[in-house]
Amino acid sequence: MDAVDVAADLSEVLFTSDQIAARLSEIAAQIDADYAGTNPLLVGVLNGAVMVMADLSRALSIDCAMDWMAVSSYGMGTHSSGVVRILKDLSTDLVGRHVLVVEDIIDTGLTLTYLMQNLASRNPASLEIMTMFRKPDAMKIQVDVKYIGFDLPNQFVVGYGLDYSGRYRNLRDVGILAPHVYS
Ligand code: 5GP
Repeated sequence: MDAVDVAADLSEVLFTSDQIAARLSEIAAQIDADYAGTNPLLVGVLNGAVMVMADLSRALSIDCAMDWMAVSSYGMGTHSSGVVRILKDLSTDLVGRHVLVVEDIIDTGLTLTYLMQNLASRNPASLEIMTMFRKPDAMKIQVDVKYIGFDLPNQFVVGYGLDYSGRYRNLRDVGILAPHVYS
């Protein structure tokens, strides 16, 4: 689905699928260089990171493993609750692994801060973060992110894995959700 298919629900298109793909290629080249000779484990955070994980992993030239976690933080609304619960844990042992967490978006940073503390306690060889999007103005906790796709304004966006009440995840582009959809 493209932005034109849901044009009435978007107040602005921020990034097209082509722009996202081009930025992912650049990040993949950096990761290839940084992790050369290792077999990193990419940890995707469900459900939002499905698209970025699929595209980033295939853009890499190095061999990597993948695993998934699911955490709840948002409920059905458009504001972070700060309450994090692990709904699905990893099936991979992290001891001695080079772990790269792959995120869709960092908003307040609350979810990721909890997740990073949790993963660090499992003794990986290294632990870094790649996020497709970040909202610098919304961050409540400083999170060290090694790879960032794009910074966003502090507004609620959908597309490229990011949903509103389960909708718009399969939108190829990323746009700001029009207020009439949720008000
Ligand atoms: P944080 O804990 O950083 O505030 O929130 C992280 C999670 O909130 C993300 O993984 C994502 O699921 C959700 N989220 C934050 N901002 C947005 C947004 O603008 N759009 C959508 N669809 N989800 C968001």
